Amino acid sequence: MPVIACPSCKKTITNIRGYENTKEGRKIKGQCLNPKCKTNYFRVPETRTMARILHFDIETAPMEVYAFSNKTEFISAPMLKRDWYVICWSANWDDSEKVISACQTPQEAKNSNDRTNQVDDKRIVEQLWHLLDAADIVVTKNGKTFDVPKMNERFLCYGLPPLTQYRHVDLQINLRNFGFSWKGLDAVRKRMGGEGKIPTDFTWWKECMAGNPEYLKKMSLYCGKDVLENKILYHDIRPWDNQHPNMGVYSLTGNPCCPVCGSEDLEELSVTYKTQTNTYPQFRCRECGHVPRGRKTTKKTTVQLVG
Ligand SMILES: [Zn+2]
Ligand SMILES: [Zn+2]
Repeated sequence: MPVIACPSCKKTITNIRGYENTKEGRKIKGQCLNPKCKTNYFRVPETRTMARILHFDIETAPMEVYAFSNKTEFISAPMLKRDWYVICWSANWDDSEKVISACQTPQEAKNSNDRTNQVDDKRIVEQLWHLLDAADIVVTKNGKTFDVPKMNERFLCYGLPPLTQYRHVDLQINLRNFGFSWKGLDAVRKRMGGEGKIPTDFTWWKECMAGNPEYLKKMSLYCGKDVLENKILYHDIRPWDNQHPNMGVYSLTGNPCCPVCGSEDLEELSVTYKTQTNTYPQFRCRECGHVPRGRKTTKKTTVQLVG
């Protein structure tokens, strides 16, 4: 799918505001999210679906606390020296190769650790808010328990309004269907023959908190690599995902399409899917391999009794 770029300023961050049926077919209505541009546009789609899928990942600084024990203990609020904050984030639109990243400046990192307990991640947090607000579907790994609630906390603290509603695909939940010995991104990707994560150690976080520009850069690249590895995993896993947001509702043609990838190249299978009372046609997507089923039964049921 080609990137939806603003026809005026050519920035790729544009917000699709629905579509309208015209004589030339369905047209996309959109508005550029660049605050200096905000151009409204109206054009014939080049894509079959208008779903904007965003991959993202964040790296955070740990809390700094007083502790009486090196074992896990409850740390009460007065024991806090400095709360967590966002060091950097990376994101990628699914139809683009480009990794979008934002990272604290050395000064912002130093400000976050200057003992005033006012962290300085507002600039990069606001940037991520705008990106997430433009997404229809957000893809993360472990984002339902980590990245999304963490970012919601930052958005709330900085007085940002709630994001426009989006669907969330968390690969950690998808991985429950597969018996990997380790469900971490590095282990899963390596088991599947991929590259895995860039190796790190806790020094990286210490150097970032000290505002070391070399390590801030390294952390940002590390985060970007995670996003790209997550993206590969997403494309490998989604044909298996029967809970994936239905691309049919984002279709620009209105033709039957694969619920996970939006392809209209489907083959009806000879074997039907059977419930207790009905049979449904099954299809194979020739593009991604997913097997969706029809919503309508294949024939009038002859089943009279159940249970
Ligand atoms: Zn623009
Ligand atoms: Zn498909």
